[in-house]
Amino acid sequence: MAYKLFIPGPIEVSEKTYKAMTEHLVGHRSKDFVALMEKIQPDLQKLFFTKDPVYLSTSSSWGVMEGAIRNVCKKGVLNCANGAFSDKWYDVSLRCGKYAEELKFDWGKPVDPEALDKALSTGKFDAVTIIHNETSTGTMSDICALSEVLKKYPDVVSIVDTVSSFSAMPIKKDELGIDVMLAGCQKAMAIPPGLAFLTVSQKALERAKTVEGRGYYFDFLEFQKFYEKNQTPSTPVISLIYALRSKIEDINSEGLENRYARHLENNKIVREWGYNYGFELFPEEKYSSITLNCFKNNLDVDIVAVNEQLKKRFNMMINCGYGKIKGKTFRISNMGDETPETMRELLSNLDSILPEYLKK
Ligand SMILES: *Cc1c(COP(=O)(O)O)cnc(C)c1O
Repeated sequence: MAYKLFIPGPIEVSEKTYKAMTEHLVGHRSKDFVALMEKIQPDLQKLFFTKDPVYLSTSSSWGVMEGAIRNVCKKGVLNCANGAFSDKWYDVSLRCGKYAEELKFDWGKPVDPEALDKALSTGKFDAVTIIHNETSTGTMSDICALSEVLKKYPDVVSIVDTVSSFSAMPIKKDELGIDVMLAGCQKAMAIPPGLAFLTVSQKALERAKTVEGRGYYFDFLEFQKFYEKNQTPSTPVISLIYALRSKIEDINSEGLENRYARHLENNKIVREWGYNYGFELFPEEKYSSITLNCFKNNLDVDIVAVNEQLKKRFNMMINCGYGKIKGKTFRISNMGDETPETMRELLSNLDSILPEYLKK
């Protein structure tokens, strides 16, 4: 059974996008492929607000998250950890054999600029990882404030995961001075999973040249070599690149500003709906994500049962919490192609289920 997905990734994919994927393949060394890559590159750069190259990686986001560590860390990496994905990134750094330390915050708290400053001032690190939008807890850190701190440390290469915020709001890579910015395709881009985007500054490329053990598949220098020919190092997931081209058309016809405003409005509709029931957000409102709402289950409803009803009666699903906050929270995504109308449809379905489950 297929459900309309209001989980924070993967999310609902449009018929247009699915259809785009059925176009016949071209060889990845052919002129047609080069033309495809040439066509989408400027649009990708616009979405990242960068002049740096945007590489396409046939992998989920974790591929380039791990790859970034292997490419830029020599001395040590500081992993800012405030949720499931960012905690895991520390583990991944260790598995890559790097010296790593965690800068730990409670789940639902943002990464604190002052604490970041203090940790980097030890001089122990030449790389740092930050997750802009911690999807597991719906927490968005203040990337502007954090990037001001990073600017004080030119020897530290910054790696920022924007997996679940990319294209839903402006994150201006060059202006912020982010070295490595990465995203996946199955979150706000609403493309089936399997493709990741990665943009790398000159400073990060220079660093990579001096780092041993970069491997092959995620080697920045390989990506760059082929980027210069409008190609990818190995056979890419061409069907998803067709989907990407189609999605870029959608974004261009809607307009970036409209796209950002739509995400904000969708987010607000869900947030107010939750408040009306008396649900509280898991993070502080000020640091709450704009691509999903992570509510505390403070009304103690059987959220799994609610979701089962939602699936059974309406063919839709939300998420009942991630990792150690499963069941204690629930998450509703508002990213991708959703509109105020489609969000209201979900919420009105929930309205016909929830009252039975609320404690009298
Ligand atoms: C989904 C997600 C990931 C992991 O993405 P995969 O595509 O499953 O590798 C990493 N970081 C964040 C913030 C995410 O939301």
